[in-house]
Amino acid sequence: MLKIQYLVSGGIITNYKCSSKCKHCCYSSSPKWPNDYMTPSMADEIFAVLKRLGCDAVHIGGGEPLLQPDKLYGILDAAYRNNIGIEYIETNASWYKDAASAKTILKELKGRGVKTLLISIDPYHNEYIPFWKVKGLIQACSAVKMNVFPWQMEFWDEVDALDDHETHSLDEYIRLYGEDYPVRLMSRYGLNLKGRAFMTYRPFMKKQPVDQILKESKPCGLLSGIYHFHVDLYGSYIPQSCPGFSIPVKELVSGADPDKYRIFNSMESVGIRGLFELAEKEYGYTPKNEYAGKCDLCYDIRNHLVLELGLDLPDLKPEGHYKYI
Ligand code: SF4
Ligand code: SF4
Repeated sequence: MLKIQYLVSGGIITNYKCSSKCKHCCYSSSPKWPNDYMTPSMADEIFAVLKRLGCDAVHIGGGEPLLQPDKLYGILDAAYRNNIGIEYIETNASWYKDAASAKTILKELKGRGVKTLLISIDPYHNEYIPFWKVKGLIQACSAVKMNVFPWQMEFWDEVDALDDHETHSLDEYIRLYGEDYPVRLMSRYGLNLKGRAFMTYRPFMKKQPVDQILKESKPCGLLSGIYHFHVDLYGSYIPQSCPGFSIPVKELVSGADPDKYRIFNSMESVGIRGLFELAEKEYGYTPKNEYAGKCDLCYDIRNHLVLELGLDLPDLKPEGHYKYI
């Protein structure tokens, strides 16, 4: 059985829709996603399960959770009901219009026990969000005594060097800081190379023959991330570093059937060789000659199943992760 007995700390994904389409986004969020948002009753269900598993606090992320603040308030109320603390809410600041309206929202958050906003600061976000919004939100936080967790301060000067009323493409940053800027940015940021982030950086990665990748196959341990797991708006457990895989968290508590979640189980127990053999035997998958490592092959197989064959597989959810990359 696929089972989780203990969870320490993680996050809630309230929505996948986002105002931005950042090149480093491992969830492949974008404005194209449906406008779905976690409901308070789903939040109650999730928080009750997390509490039983030993998790007392979560962070909240997306997508952009503050695209619909009224819906976020309902999730915070559910966290309070279930005695789950909120470590911080992640935001890209795109919703900031002016100090007065931002302070109204921040006070609503504070009244529901939120003490900290994680605010994104980096060139990837600056392709979509002018920096004046980030600065305005930080000032509004200061005015209402909301803590700010700036993510990441090391990029402040680079972003601030450009006109803060405009957005700026990565090409602009390349012109200023050199051709290798995107690759340096990747390691400075410490990216999780999955989803759209993987597609952005795939061209820079060394290719390997398929046989070599399969020979080196090891279990991927999708259930081992007890310190930074996520549960999304559909009640699905999203492994720490591998979005695009999911199992309902309430099933994982009592033990999810490996025969129902065969894709997930193949990665958890065998690794890329397990998924490859399953896809080749049962879904007519044929590989190319080489890939940029096991995750590239893994995405090629999953894209084949979800996008080319259009299969509705319970463990390859949400489909948007593949469709809106
Ligand atoms: S990184 Fe954040 S702001 Fe950017 S697309 Fe993803 S969820 Fe949206
Ligand atoms: S091979 Fe697939 S499951 Fe394993 S780490 Fe890479 S993306 Fe995740």
